[in-house]
Amino acid sequence: MVRISIALAFIAALSACGGENTPSQTAKASVSTQGSNDNRVAKEVFGRIATSSAGPSQSIGGYARGCQAGAMQLPETGSTWQAMRLSRNRNWAQPVTVDYIQDLSRFAATQSGWSGLYVGDMSQPRGGPMLTGHASHQTGLDADIWMLPPNRLNLTAAEREGISSITMQRANGAYTNASWTPQHEAILKAAASDPRVARIFLFPGAKVEMCKNATGDRSWLRKIRPWWGHHYHFHVRLNCRAGAAGCEDQAPPPPGDGCAEAQGWVDRILNPPPPDPNAKPATPRGPLLVAQLPGQCGRVINH
Ligand SMILES: [Zn+2]
Repeated sequence: MVRISIALAFIAALSACGGENTPSQTAKASVSTQGSNDNRVAKEVFGRIATSSAGPSQSIGGYARGCQAGAMQLPETGSTWQAMRLSRNRNWAQPVTVDYIQDLSRFAATQSGWSGLYVGDMSQPRGGPMLTGHASHQTGLDADIWMLPPNRLNLTAAEREGISSITMQRANGAYTNASWTPQHEAILKAAASDPRVARIFLFPGAKVEMCKNATGDRSWLRKIRPWWGHHYHFHVRLNCRAGAAGCEDQAPPPPGDGCAEAQGWVDRILNPPPPDPNAKPATPRGPLLVAQLPGQCGRVINH
């Protein structure tokens, strides 16, 4: 029975081929969600596809439950950037993300000690869940930027596998360490000030530090969001393209600069509250199945 429904889903996917280039059919397709009966584990499927899909570029679904069509590859090396860990094949994204990374890297190259950016994981060729690592990065709108200031941009592929970024934190993320510089702050400010950006994830101590040092307009601080990890890299998340059907934005960050909230994170790192005796254990969740992604993602697999 399962085999029959998978076969039917496959036939349905095949019959949808070739029709996605017309706007009306694209719009129609984006309305159908979770229509697939494909019960394969999504990361096993998306994690093994080496090339992007044909057709127009499109983010489908949400950052942590979606995929991408028509992705572009960030060139492995540019005049102001290098993509790292090429073996992972995660330097794929929507065109807006590739443009954004290149623009930010040109700004970074104006900073003393920075020849540009080392770019970490973006998305897989067709997005979707990954075999290792991130829960998000699924729609071609997320990118990790290394905190390590690049001193050269002629690293070989082998060097890009071997070298690592460096941490910027001390006291479990409550504070920045001696590697943190005004240049990091300038690059993060430029990164967050860009209207293409929805939010940036960064360890709490760094946000609090930038809150202390910011002068003049503070509105960009709103997009810098305190989060776990994110001390070897910062994570940029872009907005869905305006009017893009089927791409799901996240709710915007709360109003204000978010500095008091970040200080709250720091306070809880320094003085952890006692565990809540009534807290329910987290319900274990199985890996996402293809059928749990938007229905269009089932078609992206086969294009
Ligand atoms: Zn990330």
